[in-house]
Amino acid sequence: MRILYFDICAIPLFLMILSVCYTRKMTEGTANRLFISLVFLSLVSTLADLGMEIPDNMAPLSETGRVLCCVSTYAYLLLRNATNAILLLFLLALTRTTFLIRRAWAKLLFCLPYLVIVILLAQNPFTHNAFTITAQVGYSRGPLMMAFYGIALLYGIVGFVYCIYCRRYLPANKWAALLGTYLLVHIAVLIQFFHPELLMEMFFTAAGEMMIMLSVMRPEERMDSEVGMLSWASYQSDLRNILRSGEHVQIIVIRISNCREIRNYLGDHEYNLFLSQIARGIRAIRWKYQRRIELYLERPGTVYLIADENEADTLNVGERLLSEAGDPIRRYTDMGVRVEPQVCLIRCPEDIQNAEDIISLGHTFQKLNGRNRAVCRADEIVRSQTFAIEAHIEEILDRAIRDRRVEMYYQPIYDVRAHRFHSAEALARIIDPEYGFISPSVFIPAAEALGYIIAIGDAVLDQVFRFISEHDLNALGLGCIEINLSVAQCMERGLPDKIRALQQKYGVEASQVNFEITETTFATISEVVLENVNELLGMGYSFALDDYGIGYSSIQRVNHLPLKLIKIDKSMLDEVSTDNGRKILEHTVRMMQSIGKQLVTEGAETHDQVRILEEMGSEYIQGFYFSRPLPADDFLRFIRERNGCR
Ligand code: C2E
Ligand code: MG
Ligand code: MG
Repeated sequence: MRILYFDICAIPLFLMILSVCYTRKMTEGTANRLFISLVFLSLVSTLADLGMEIPDNMAPLSETGRVLCCVSTYAYLLLRNATNAILLLFLLALTRTTFLIRRAWAKLLFCLPYLVIVILLAQNPFTHNAFTITAQVGYSRGPLMMAFYGIALLYGIVGFVYCIYCRRYLPANKWAALLGTYLLVHIAVLIQFFHPELLMEMFFTAAGEMMIMLSVMRPEERMDSEVGMLSWASYQSDLRNILRSGEHVQIIVIRISNCREIRNYLGDHEYNLFLSQIARGIRAIRWKYQRRIELYLERPGTVYLIADENEADTLNVGERLLSEAGDPIRRYTDMGVRVEPQVCLIRCPEDIQNAEDIISLGHTFQKLNGRNRAVCRADEIVRSQTFAIEAHIEEILDRAIRDRRVEMYYQPIYDVRAHRFHSAEALARIIDPEYGFISPSVFIPAAEALGYIIAIGDAVLDQVFRFISEHDLNALGLGCIEINLSVAQCMERGLPDKIRALQQKYGVEASQVNFEITETTFATISEVVLENVNELLGMGYSFALDDYGIGYSSIQRVNHLPLKLIKIDKSMLDEVSTDNGRKILEHTVRMMQSIGKQLVTEGAETHDQVRILEEMGSEYIQGFYFSRPLPADDFLRFIRERNGCR
């Protein structure tokens, strides 16, 4: 008498796994689809197993029972053996090594054992050498039954060995879970081989698949379930596996440059639907052009496609994506949503051989895309020095802090009424031994994003305070030096203490320093920012608002903040050649002065601009027309000469 309880208990487990897969939209991606097929086939195999065992328990069999038992046995042997092959395929897809069986002979080798099974089953009705089912005895094994076990064992052993080999492709916990599953299922098969009455195999298979789902697939990690695309974490791990295995692929990065605005306009829920529609559009192309493409999403709005390499013209794919994937989002474009996608095509490993560089390129290609086209190719970008710097910025920052390579340059600020230079802005530079001069517009945002800004800011503060202590600003005719403070620095609890310590160490007066901050500093919700600013004001320091006129500058904010000085951004001055631009600048200058703020206009490059600013009554001007930012010694020489001091 066979014990059927194990099989019966396995069924709800399989159903649970399948329902989780569907509700978490784990239908995207080859590995996910193979896993679902594996669970589905295991479920049907279990039903077939029951279909052959239930009548068998009731021998002698009725004719219906015999037919049911017979059909179920064929189904079981056919499907159960297929699951062994699919588990192996799943392993290949998970480690992105499916290309190992891309050649025709490799495919044949892979399928051959399964073909033997199909042949054995096809000839069994005539020879009965695999199994027989009779009304009196029920099911009985034939001499070739061992071949089924042998082939199952063959897939099992190959899978197990490959699983051990795959250690470098998978994190330890996932690897252990896969190995555990293999062991679990094969121990169950062994027990069942010696004790056929214990039908444990399918229950253990269900337990193993549950283990794979919980620790290997981890839907919350592999999928962005809200939109049905693979997650950013999956992209990174798949990318690393592709590079490890040496597979040739094409990566298409689609970055929606105005995604934040779209999200703000649509709201979170509708924005997810919008992304799902983009995914739909791309999937339609995948079907139409028969390409194997995996879809990944990095929030808020970058889609990565990894496609196999055998497409002649990648550029066409990119352009097709832009023109054809638009259809499903027509509803949104009709609503007036302007979608601005930018595409970068990367051939891997031909263009770049390193996962970090590919990830970095995905983030920066818009900036590096010299000709600013909608579709650009990685090979045109990666040769540039700018890309090398962007890609290695963390290493550069690390080295700059460790080896004290942050250098301060000073840009003089001209006092229109006094006809002399009244102050200077301290601007940081990194001179890297490998990559040379690095602009702060590159390394400051990177330092902010990567958590280096406090260390860089500390180096800046120390150098500028020391500079002030070493030179007599009064004698040079300079009132103060301006230091840029980042948001993160302003949010640091110990900032006033740090500055107090520097003040004492170098004997600098608070009036000799003016801190520049931007409006975003006050847009943060941190209470600490206001506490810090107020404490520094109490200590006698003053503040300037930098970059006024960029983005959404608010005159209300300017009015309410304790600011001595407003620095008008270069972009406003650049507009001065137009009639309206000139009027806007003129009114801004007048308005700021009427609410008692001093004004510096940044970015004056020509004599005409300086003349216009003088006419408008801007008190201070900073720009290349007078001087570029200079190294300390050159700056001192410049000031001594131009301010007429020794
Ligand atoms: P910012 O504070 O607005 O500095 C003014 C920028 O405009 C400087 O660029 C300066 O070289 C440039 N500039 C001045 N006059 C002209 C001109 O006539 N024409 C043109 N084309 N540019 C002009 P720089 O030195 O590249 O710095 C860029 C930004 O990096 C700075 O903008 C500031 O936001 C940030 N930064 C620089 N040094 C530091 C620092 O020590 N700490 C922090 N937190 N940020 C810094
Ligand atoms: Mg500044
Ligand atoms: Mg500025």
